[in-house]
Amino acid sequence: MSFLQLENISKVFAGAGKPAVNGLKLTINQGEIVSLLGPSGCGKTTTLRMIAGFENPSEGTIKIDGATIVKDAFALPPEKRGIGMVFQDYALFPHMTILKNVMFGLNKWSSRDKKKRAKEVLELVGLEEFADRYPTQISGGQQQRVALARALAPRPHVVLMDEPFSNLDAGLREKMRFEITNILRRANTTAIIVTHDQKDAFAVSDRVVVMNEGEIQQIAAPKEMYRCPKNCFVAQFVGKTNLLTGKMDQDLRSIHTHIGRVTLPEESKQLLEDVTLSVRPEGCMLSEQGAYCGKVERVTYSGEYQELHVHLQNDGGLAPAPMLIYAPVEQDIEVGTVVSFDIKPELVALVD
Ligand code: ATP
Repeated sequence: MSFLQLENISKVFAGAGKPAVNGLKLTINQGEIVSLLGPSGCGKTTTLRMIAGFENPSEGTIKIDGATIVKDAFALPPEKRGIGMVFQDYALFPHMTILKNVMFGLNKWSSRDKKKRAKEVLELVGLEEFADRYPTQISGGQQQRVALARALAPRPHVVLMDEPFSNLDAGLREKMRFEITNILRRANTTAIIVTHDQKDAFAVSDRVVVMNEGEIQQIAAPKEMYRCPKNCFVAQFVGKTNLLTGKMDQDLRSIHTHIGRVTLPEESKQLLEDVTLSVRPEGCMLSEQGAYCGKVERVTYSGEYQELHVHLQNDGGLAPAPMLIYAPVEQDIEVGTVVSFDIKPELVALVD
């Protein structure tokens, strides 16, 4: 059931030539966790701020649970929208205990109910025994859980989180991705998370919205987004890829590219003339008698795999750009080695 609807939302800041957000359409279901993912300046935070009510759209309608909260000159004040916000720096009050911080969002409740509810949400985020500490007396990950508890306390319709993982180190970040998703699921809350990090977005979301220059590029579940990126921007922003151009064969499945014939995972619905393919590096499998071969120009060891830049030879001479392919770490591969590989059709996609 559609729960939060953004209908043709645009935002033009005074004095700016280009809109920060341009004709955004998005429908989010009850209980869904959705990430807004994109590079710096693409309009993620502005979108979040318009939903929260800190910024008014220049155009468009916003509805929550069927009720219009923004339309034309009408804009419901932020405190009446039933939205819980978790800020990037958590914005906890340093002079208040954890319990008081969580109770803060419940100012209209009776003091008995406030305390009961605050304890309930602290239990939900696993911090009940920290209730009497101050924010400086707990870790960064715990502070983040307090900020989420405070946002969840008034039982909001929607929780908005702005770059929730950016202040955390790599190890804690991974742990918190799991914990935050778990807490949101247990609270059965609809949530929108803004991030510029693909791993964050993929790990926590049911669906990911990729934005660029104020516009939505693609909305899809993580796996589908990775397997079938809609255009070159998404293919390159979400993971690493090789973009190849070529001509489609009459069989609608083979593409003749500068490295040779590449097979699509399934037949194209129509015969397209000039096409662009995204070939994921992990879809290129080293093999002794592989269909493609080339010379290794660069090897980067990541610990989990080796990134090889391979310059391919073809009928017309050298291919214009090296291909990025992943090789298992146990294989000794040096610069100058000639390798051959096959391409798994499942990791090939036609892109606009
Ligand atoms: P980041 O990841 O860096 O926070 P973002 O994707 O969240 O980026 P926004 O902060 O939404 O991007 O900004 C979108 C565009 O709007 C940018 O070009 C930014 O400079 C501009 N912008 C944002 N806020 C204002 C403002 N108050 N006045 C004028 N321009 C603004």
